[in-house]
Amino acid sequence: MPKVGNYYSIASTDPDVYHNYSDCPSGQNIHPQNKRSGTGGFPRCGQCRRMD
Ligand SMILES: [Zn+2]
Repeated sequence: MPKVGNYYSIASTDPDVYHNYSDCPSGQNIHPQNKRSGTGGFPRCGQCRRMD
């Protein structure tokens, strides 16, 4: 599973979490325009945690 730099979504409709796997199903739902690198100050996504 590809591990990538931390990223998150600025859209209020997306969960307030950050991701660090490019193939995270939740992370893949983020529209490219809303994607930012970093954590956004959010906790890590539960699905990404399970992929460790
Ligand atoms: Zn995730």
